[in-house]
Amino acid sequence: MSLVIKNALTREGNLVSIVINQGIITEINKADIKIKDTDYDQVLDAEQSLVTESLISPHIHLDKVLIGDIIEPNQSGTLWEAIQKTWEVKRKYTVENIKKRASEVIHNQIKFGVTHIRTHVDVDSIGGLMPLKGLLATKEAFKDIIDLQIVAFPQEGILKDEGTEEMLEKALELGGMDMVLGGMPHNEFTDDNSKKHVNILLSLAKKHDVPIDSHTDETDDPNSRTLQYLAARAIDENYQGKITVDHICALSSYDNYHAARVIELVKKAGINVVTNPPTNMVLQGRLDAGAQRVGITRVKELMSAGVNVTIGQDCVHDPYYPFGNGDMLEVANLLGHAAKMTTISEINVLYDTITKNAAKTMDVEHQLTKGAPADLVVLHGVKNVHEAIRTTPPARTTIRNGKIISQTSVEHNRFY
Ligand SMILES: [Zn+2]
Repeated sequence: MSLVIKNALTREGNLVSIVINQGIITEINKADIKIKDTDYDQVLDAEQSLVTESLISPHIHLDKVLIGDIIEPNQSGTLWEAIQKTWEVKRKYTVENIKKRASEVIHNQIKFGVTHIRTHVDVDSIGGLMPLKGLLATKEAFKDIIDLQIVAFPQEGILKDEGTEEMLEKALELGGMDMVLGGMPHNEFTDDNSKKHVNILLSLAKKHDVPIDSHTDETDDPNSRTLQYLAARAIDENYQGKITVDHICALSSYDNYHAARVIELVKKAGINVVTNPPTNMVLQGRLDAGAQRVGITRVKELMSAGVNVTIGQDCVHDPYYPFGNGDMLEVANLLGHAAKMTTISEINVLYDTITKNAAKTMDVEHQLTKGAPADLVVLHGVKNVHEAIRTTPPARTTIRNGKIISQTSVEHNRFY
């Protein structure tokens, strides 16, 4: 099976032909080298549009997406009300109902150029292992099209919710090879228990030899300091480079001295950071009087310290976040606003956060280069990443392992 993408414009502004054989990029030629269409099984003319590595969605909750259709809206807008609102639905989950909702959002993400997704899935005494079973069935259904990594996530805490530690172990065994261990240490009743939660995560992860991807300090509370403890313990346990933390909103509420100390430690522990601007811009700052905090972490400071930062959609139409369609270009656009990343070089970094930075977080090979897997997106009608993030174009072609898996054409428009 061979495919050639003609007239492809790279991020560097070069016009090239990309030759793909058996799922691998085998040649990237200058466009003036003539292509004989009949030499290939499939020919795609990009018509001088931008072609890059496909987009990556490293943080979403596919078990909860679209439950906004069947649940009362979150009145206070806070994280805690969102968690509690979800309980009622979580008790009634079925494999089929989870698969149906998750599949709808996955199809959207594929349409928008995504080929790799990391989803968290609740593991707790309310839903048991049903959410995981639903997502394992979904993963099986999409196995030839996308890479779906699943994170066993103790949304309700570990010490606070009896039996969760044992359930996390069962989830890691049930999920198989590429499972990831999630966490939420700030969701415990005391600081001591938050530390115990971190220690449980590290010992479980080491025992099962899995990476950690933990919701951490998702609060405006400046006293929430589980990130510092997790990073320090990761170094003690020699688990550097195997941990991702999500949200870390409290870092923005620390004083500058303490924040600098924590950022230095995060860098030293080789921790990846996922910021989720869509959800945190609406959930956080709700208790602030007067001017409300933006809600996201210290993105630019983490980046300038050399920490790998990426971004997640997090939620789609659920009690946490009533919007969202899974388009990572829209998420990058939102981070541009929330973190005030507006120069051309900053906008380039925004694009990295949904491609190469996210690939590092998910530990997948992902580059538009000879010899790499052909996981690509064609952004039709777009010339550069600035235009891509500014206009979030609807017309895209998604290529996974050298096969076109989705194509959306430009809708007809007429002015009168
Ligand atoms: Zn999340």
